[in-house]
Amino acid sequence: MKKGLTTAILHADRQAEIEHGAVHKPMHTAVAFGYRTARELAAVFQGEKAGHVYGRQGNPTSQALEAKVSLMEDAVGTVSFGTGMAAVAAVFLTLLKRGDHVVSSKYLFGNTNSLLQTLEGIGVEVTLADATDAPQIEAALKPNTRMVFVETIANPRTQVADLEGIGALCGARGLVYVVDNTMTTPYLFRPKAVGASLVVNSLTKAICGHGDALGGAVSDTGLFDWSAYPNIAAAYRKGNAAGWGLQQIRKKGLRDMGGTLSAEHAHRIARGAETLGLRMDRACDNAMRLSQWLAAQPQVAAVHYPGLAGHAEHERSARLFKAFGALLSFELKDGVDCFALLDALELVIKSSHLGDARTLAIPVAHTIFWEMGPAQRKDMGIADSLVRVSVGIEDYADLQADFEQAFARLAG
Ligand SMILES: *Cc1c(COP(=O)(O)O)cnc(C)c1O
Repeated sequence: MKKGLTTAILHADRQAEIEHGAVHKPMHTAVAFGYRTARELAAVFQGEKAGHVYGRQGNPTSQALEAKVSLMEDAVGTVSFGTGMAAVAAVFLTLLKRGDHVVSSKYLFGNTNSLLQTLEGIGVEVTLADATDAPQIEAALKPNTRMVFVETIANPRTQVADLEGIGALCGARGLVYVVDNTMTTPYLFRPKAVGASLVVNSLTKAICGHGDALGGAVSDTGLFDWSAYPNIAAAYRKGNAAGWGLQQIRKKGLRDMGGTLSAEHAHRIARGAETLGLRMDRACDNAMRLSQWLAAQPQVAAVHYPGLAGHAEHERSARLFKAFGALLSFELKDGVDCFALLDALELVIKSSHLGDARTLAIPVAHTIFWEMGPAQRKDMGIADSLVRVSVGIEDYADLQADFEQAFARLAG
């Protein structure tokens, strides 16, 4: 019987034996693993026997977390990484070669945008396109296009990609379709439902949820035919083709590049993931109410939240997502200073993080999107006054009261 997401996470470890019958899976900090015979060691090395050899390629604790992420994403397998960016980088660097072309949404996490510039420097062609409209992605495709990369809800302006349209396009053209699901999490949305080949999650954000561990994951939905992908090395073209892509991502991304998730962080992320559904329900509800309230304030010029009826992709979001997410942003009217507003907040914390149990806010143009300059900010729809709010799980009345007193202080 297929279980709900929260049940599946809570009972995942018991699908295998847990040491000593422990109810909670213990943490394994071992880096090296020894075997009784050299033959056994060789069998593990050659992938004939399950087991660990050296912690850079994973450990029992990160492996347990990977199984949970696979359950959450309904994936055939998952590789965990030390950060979300290590996961994103592993997808690009292990699957693309010089001369290949990747089409990416132009509404992109700032560091992913910067990483794509690094890719251009080593000979991968990159085109940024408006992913809210699949035909614009289609228009950007070339004969050497191998991959399309999108985020579900873009941070900070909350544009929602044409996830179904791009999925159909990638399916028809045989392209690797990579969906960064960080903003929605598998609780709100499973990219597999729209044909994603690979799903990336920053585990640092809502899946951990407590701001005390960095991590990332790449999950393979099983929908892509790796036997047709030219960049799989001969060493990984063995056995069931369903595992080839992830095998290459693990070997090159972890073993060769070393982007490994530590056991301590994997353990904390797995703990946080147990309450993902509860926290998302509360945070999304808070975000919905706060965005409606903000939209009615005289100092606010615009609120960007997919749950609002006026949002350009509101209907798409309602169709695809269980709720509208925990992130909103808003622009202030001319003459209202975003720094003054943020400094007047007493409860909401000024921080660049998101997906935390606590509500965090940041002046976007002056911080996380500062490096890219005014021209690209304009193209991404980021106004100088834009404030991003990652809504937490506080009691809603306290959040609204904090913004209320802050706006009142500005007016007075
Ligand atoms: C934060 C984030 C990442 C990177 O994750 P880290 O764990 O911070 O490296 C990637 N994509 C999106 C959409 C993010 O919000």
